[in-house]
Amino acid sequence: MMKNNILSSFFYTCLSFLLVYNNIMAKKRIKIPNITAMRIFYKSAKTCAVCKNNNKPLFIHHIDENPSNNNEENLILICAECHNEAHTKHDYSINLDNKRLLFFKTEWEKEIKEKSINAMIKGDVISPINWTYFNFSIIPKSIISYGIDYKNEKYRYLLESNIINKELEIISKENNKHFDKKTIFDCVNINNAHILKSYFEEQVNNLISVIMPYEIDAIWTKKEIMSLINPNTFVYHNGGMYFKSLYDENGIETRKIHMQAKNIRIEGLIYTYYMFGLSSIINSFKRHSNIIGLYLVKNIICEKKCMTLNVTPIVLGSGNLTYYSQTPFKLRDKRDLSYLTWDNDMDG
Ligand SMILES: [Zn+2]
Repeated sequence: MMKNNILSSFFYTCLSFLLVYNNIMAKKRIKIPNITAMRIFYKSAKTCAVCKNNNKPLFIHHIDENPSNNNEENLILICAECHNEAHTKHDYSINLDNKRLLFFKTEWEKEIKEKSINAMIKGDVISPINWTYFNFSIIPKSIISYGIDYKNEKYRYLLESNIINKELEIISKENNKHFDKKTIFDCVNINNAHILKSYFEEQVNNLISVIMPYEIDAIWTKKEIMSLINPNTFVYHNGGMYFKSLYDENGIETRKIHMQAKNIRIEGLIYTYYMFGLSSIINSFKRHSNIIGLYLVKNIICEKKCMTLNVTPIVLGSGNLTYYSQTPFKLRDKRDLSYLTWDNDMDG
């Protein structure tokens, strides 16, 4: 009898192991890769896509309830309460079925994207965006390769006036030098220079809308940066930058541009050749200025505790104070620069 009991309990133990094992195999949980998780957090601005709360613990939920399906389309960021609702099916639940979850996800990510783009490119009457630095070795190629519809009236005028070619490169050789720095805008007369600037301002804003650069201050941690940023990723920054004059060659000055906060550093080089008019010689790109900028990441270097993003500035400008109130993201700092540690090697 005793022997029988031992045998049968052994049998049931084996059976229950088998059942548990089968259950695990049927719904095998595969860890969501870091990069996917970070993208989901960014695309939802670290906010619950259902109730739009960002002060509660957040979960990434599998819409189809298959924990092995880590496809981004299947993942929604929701808070603990909404997560409970998604797993509850009763008369009084809000019935967050797959279809509704997908709807919430799509609508919310779309809203975040639109708000982010508007924050980056829409200035206002008080602080209109004024792009005054254009990297013409990269902008024309980017506009064409991202499929932006650039053929408008200004394009046709600039083309017919032999200022640009069909590849949007500046071909005019005319030199109307107004200032002591040689700039690409001095290749044309002052009226055409304004048309050229205004045309590329429009195209740059179109480019930002299409590429949707990362708002770098929204992902200001080493982990997030390592997950989301690679060489050739575009990032957008609005804030204080230091400028340091390095050397002058044939009237074109090379300046170092950099900022650092919380052991994360951004640095790159700019050339007065790409600056519009007076901006090359007066304040905007000298010493310490608050500027807006679109940057292309060249590489990321981690040394000791500091992480450096080497970037190529694509467009730089001033204005857009409303960015801080319009962005859907929680930024590293919203204009309170007091706790930042700045470098000491600034000029001036
Ligand atoms: Zn919620």
